[in-house]
Amino acid sequence: MRSQKANANTVRSVNRTLLLNLLRREGSLSRVQLKDLTGLSGAAITGVVAELIGEGVVMETTPLPSSGGRPPVLLTINYKSRAAIGVKLMERELTAVLTDAGANIEASVVLPLSAYDPQTVVDHIAQVVEVLLQKTGRPRSELLGVGIGMAGLIDHETGTCINSPYLKWNHVPIARMVEEQLSLQAIIDNDVNAFAAAERLFGEAINCNHFFVVTVGRGIGSGLVLSGQTYRGFSGTAGEFGHVTTEPGGRICECGKRGCLEAYASDVSLLARYRELKPEVQSLEGMVEAFHEGEPIAMALIEDAGKRIGVALANVVNLLNPQLIVIGGEGIRLPGRYFEQMEQHLRLNVYPGLNVDLDIRTEHWGDEGWARGAASLVLQSTFDFSLGHS
Ligand SMILES: [Zn+2]
Repeated sequence: MRSQKANANTVRSVNRTLLLNLLRREGSLSRVQLKDLTGLSGAAITGVVAELIGEGVVMETTPLPSSGGRPPVLLTINYKSRAAIGVKLMERELTAVLTDAGANIEASVVLPLSAYDPQTVVDHIAQVVEVLLQKTGRPRSELLGVGIGMAGLIDHETGTCINSPYLKWNHVPIARMVEEQLSLQAIIDNDVNAFAAAERLFGEAINCNHFFVVTVGRGIGSGLVLSGQTYRGFSGTAGEFGHVTTEPGGRICECGKRGCLEAYASDVSLLARYRELKPEVQSLEGMVEAFHEGEPIAMALIEDAGKRIGVALANVVNLLNPQLIVIGGEGIRLPGRYFEQMEQHLRLNVYPGLNVDLDIRTEHWGDEGWARGAASLVLQSTFDFSLGHS
């Protein structure tokens, strides 16, 4: 059984998160507005606000006086007061950023990986943390932690990379290794969940509790937020959207299964399909060039890929009724027609009643954007109830 003191601490922690989230969403609010919006007592608001101001996390601002008397003092989050590191781990290199608590990038660095074993990667992460602190002149004490985003199967709860096909890792407790070496909180997640975290905190999905993020590039990934929570499924690996079946018994996929969406519509697969008919074309850029010149096979394959993703997305909408779909990733390499086909076939195949308010947005992120997503994993733990930090 919890002691009374532990319960009081939990209540305080929940109230703190509640107030921080309201200020994040609304920008600035007075103490009276916070009281009205939360239903908390004036004493509770005063106590938590004093604590947050004392820590430098929240600051008071006074708006310019209007004609109608003295304006109330407003409270706003001092995003500059804290920082987070985000690391996107990739096949051959890592991209890292230091952001403030509002996920604004202050500095970035790219470091090639000299080897792929976990200890070497942790050493590289330690190195980029030092470089980023030096670049920004921030003291280490302002860091909230290190967020790591990577492709593969990740157990977010235990901070373990269960499987990374790129780094050839199996069951690596990478978050714990980083925490032990750097004495900083470390959070790891699938890079698409990191993307979703950034979208929810400060991006397209702000104030949105039901949304689906799909990323298109070398692979096809997804992140699912339901009722304000990242949905992880029974064994923590939900969201393998790239491996829904688009063609029973069809092309073999990297995962070993046949007919996966990824085997038709990822940029690697698109090029592979094209090269089966046009072996002289060496790169995706070459295929896109052919598309723009009106070459019919390139056009047909790119349209087919967009259509397949659109139909698969419609199935997700029919099942889960999200308010928003964010399409992101490295898809900027593909022509607009791909995304037009995707949206057209999504809308065509959605159950009529679900189409009305569905919002679809496209975001193009570079590696820095993905690293910013990784930093958002740390920021999310500051703003979120779900992770239960007290
Ligand atoms: Zn597959």
